[in-house]
Amino acid sequence: MHKFGTVALIGPPNAGKSTLMNRYLGQKVAIVSPRPQTTRNRISGIYTDDDAQIVFLDTPGIHQLRGKMNRFLLESAWNALSGADAVVVLLDAALYAAKPQLLEKEIKPLVKPVAETGRPVLVAVNKVDRIKDKPALLPVMARLGALWPEAEFIPVSALRGQGTEELLARLLDFIPEGPPMFPEDQISTAPVRFMAAEIIRERLFYSLRQELPYSTAVEIEAWDEQTRPGTAIINAVIYTAQKNHKGMIIGKQGSNLKKIGSEARKEIAELLGCKVHLELWVKVRSGWTEDPGFLRAMGLGE
Ligand code: GDP
Ligand code: MG
Repeated sequence: MHKFGTVALIGPPNAGKSTLMNRYLGQKVAIVSPRPQTTRNRISGIYTDDDAQIVFLDTPGIHQLRGKMNRFLLESAWNALSGADAVVVLLDAALYAAKPQLLEKEIKPLVKPVAETGRPVLVAVNKVDRIKDKPALLPVMARLGALWPEAEFIPVSALRGQGTEELLARLLDFIPEGPPMFPEDQISTAPVRFMAAEIIRERLFYSLRQELPYSTAVEIEAWDEQTRPGTAIINAVIYTAQKNHKGMIIGKQGSNLKKIGSEARKEIAELLGCKVHLELWVKVRSGWTEDPGFLRAMGLGE
């Protein structure tokens, strides 16, 4: 009997959703960042083994969302839920062990809307590797249990792999019978163009200081695999909402942009399995985060 189904990953930003998905896929499809709100679009990852195929939907963080773009993100996250066979709520247990007051604040708003979807809920209590003093996990588990009586809790470390096999095995109980929908070597339903743009955006996150990347978007303007066989020639534009950010992105004599470009190029080449020539441009487009037409063009709006 073969199984096929979808699983929605939700949880506060930085909980480890992308890390978990990448672990199941054995490679990187969703971008991981030490800062919250990296996953802007919904990214799917396709897990395939001999007996099952699961499409994981990595949803954007559904907390502290503001502005037009974020309203869209919020909707997209809840849409992912209603169609899924199971919901995995990821949370950062190390954070709540250290700051107990955050647990109610961040988790409580999720309980009711998730229950309303009628989907089975597994709560992956993540980052247990960071809790050196293991008994510190107990009060976190107890408070979660009280807050969410109908959920099942599984301690995991998405980063190190502890508990992730158990979580997967439990998830499979909720996945219905069905043939695989995707070829076994396909790892995402996202087009490679989109994934390339995400890789560039991730590099921006790593190279720049706080906040700035939240007002940046990356657009692939040209993608040419014909001119030079064996090489993908890619032109991408980094849009930023503020003039003074342009200089920061570019850096002294272009040093920062060069670094972003060369790191992203390597990763995109790995993704595509061919050589990549990447050209990056930076353009200022003020107010883009509130511009519905532009958001739509970037795949960020309705
Ligand atoms: P997302 O916003 O929920 O998608 O979170 P990410 O997957 O981007 O992870 C956020 C940060 O937490 C990154 O720095 C990850 O490396 C880190 N992280 C995720 N899972 C774990 C874990 O199990 N243990 C530890 N120590 N760090 C983790
Ligand atoms: Mg993410």
